[in-house]
Amino acid sequence: MIRPLVPRLAIIGAGLIGSSLARAAREKHLAGTIVVADADAAVCARVRELGFADAVTQSAAEAATDADIVVACVPVGASGAVAAEVGPHLKPGAILSDVGSVKASVVETMAPFVPAHAHLVPAHPVAGTEFSGPDAGFAALFENRWCIVTPPEGADPAAVDRIVALWRAAGANVETMSAQHHDLVLAITSHVPHLIAYNIVGTAAELEETLTSEVIKFSAGGFRDFTRIASSDPTMWRDVFLSNREAVLEMLGRFTEDLTALQRAIRYGDGDALFEHFTRTRAIRRSIIEQGQETAAPDFGRRAAEKPKHEQS
Ligand code: NAP
Repeated sequence: MIRPLVPRLAIIGAGLIGSSLARAAREKHLAGTIVVADADAAVCARVRELGFADAVTQSAAEAATDADIVVACVPVGASGAVAAEVGPHLKPGAILSDVGSVKASVVETMAPFVPAHAHLVPAHPVAGTEFSGPDAGFAALFENRWCIVTPPEGADPAAVDRIVALWRAAGANVETMSAQHHDLVLAITSHVPHLIAYNIVGTAAELEETLTSEVIKFSAGGFRDFTRIASSDPTMWRDVFLSNREAVLEMLGRFTEDLTALQRAIRYGDGDALFEHFTRTRAIRRSIIEQGQETAAPDFGRRAAEKPKHEQS
C-alpha cells in the first residue's frame, strides 16, 4: 500500500476552509487518518453527518495528539488560543500550520506555544467564497488557486517542504514569502476591497427607504457584486482588520489619495485622465483572466448559470 502524504492530519475548525481541506484530503487520499475538531458541538454533529472525517471531536488537544500535521482553520483572532491548546500535545517532529488571511500577527500569537521539538509553518490558501460553515466547503476549492506559505525565520526546511507538498497535493499553486510581505500584498488585493464593499453596501443601507428599495431593484448595475463580498463572515473579517491594521491603513491611505484624484478629474471634466485610468484597470482584469484566476464569461458567468441546463453551451 502507498504511504499517504500525511499519516495523521488534524484540522481544527470545520468551517469553509477546514471542511474544504478535509474534503480535498479525503478525495485525493492525502492522509491516513483525518481528525477534525471544532469548538461547536453542532458543527461536530454536522461533520459526522457529512462524513469527510475519520474522527470528530470538540477537543483540539485530542485531535492534535499523535498528529503529523495540525492545521488551524479558525478565525485569526482564535489562532493563538488554538496554539495554546494544541501546543503541549504536539509530538516530536509535528507541524502546526494555519490558513489565516493575515500572517504576521498569527506567527506572533502562535509561535510562543510551539514546543522546540515541533515546527510552525503558517500558510494562507488564497481561495474562498462568501459562505461559512461545514456545508459551505468543497474539495475543489483550492484547485489552481494560490496558497502562500510564510515560514518564520529559521524554519525547518523539511517541515516547510511538507506543508508546500500538502497544498500542492490539494490542488493549489504554492508561493513562499515573508509574513510581512504577505500582509501588505493581501491588504490591497483582498482586505481593502472587502472594506470598500462593506462600506458601499452600508452607505446604501443608510439611504432613505424608497431609494434603498430602488438600489436593490437595480442592483445589477455593479452594486450586486459588492453585496456578495459584503456578505462575508463578520467574525472572520473583523479579525482580519484588527490583525492587519498597519498594512490596511497604509493601503487605505493610497486608495484615498487615488480616489481624490479621480474625484478631481470628474469635477474638472478631465475626460482624458478618466479614460487613461479606466484603460489601465481594464488591462489588469484581462491579465487576471489570462492567469486563470477568473472567468471571462459575461457577468461573471451568471447568465450561463441562470439559463436552464439544456440552453447552456
Ligand atoms: P468559518 O467557516 O467561520 O469556520 C471557522 C470554524 O472554526 C467555525 O466552525 C468556528 O466555530 C470554529 N472555531 C472558532 N474558534 C475555534 C476554536 N478556538 N477551536 C476550534 N474551533 C473553532 O471560517 P472560514 O471561512 O473557514 O475561515 C477560517 C480561516 O480561514 C480564517 O482564519 C480566515 O481568515 C481564513 N480564510 C478564509 C477564507 C474565506 O474566503 N472564507 C479564505 C482564505 C482563508 P464557531 O462558528 O462556533 O465560532
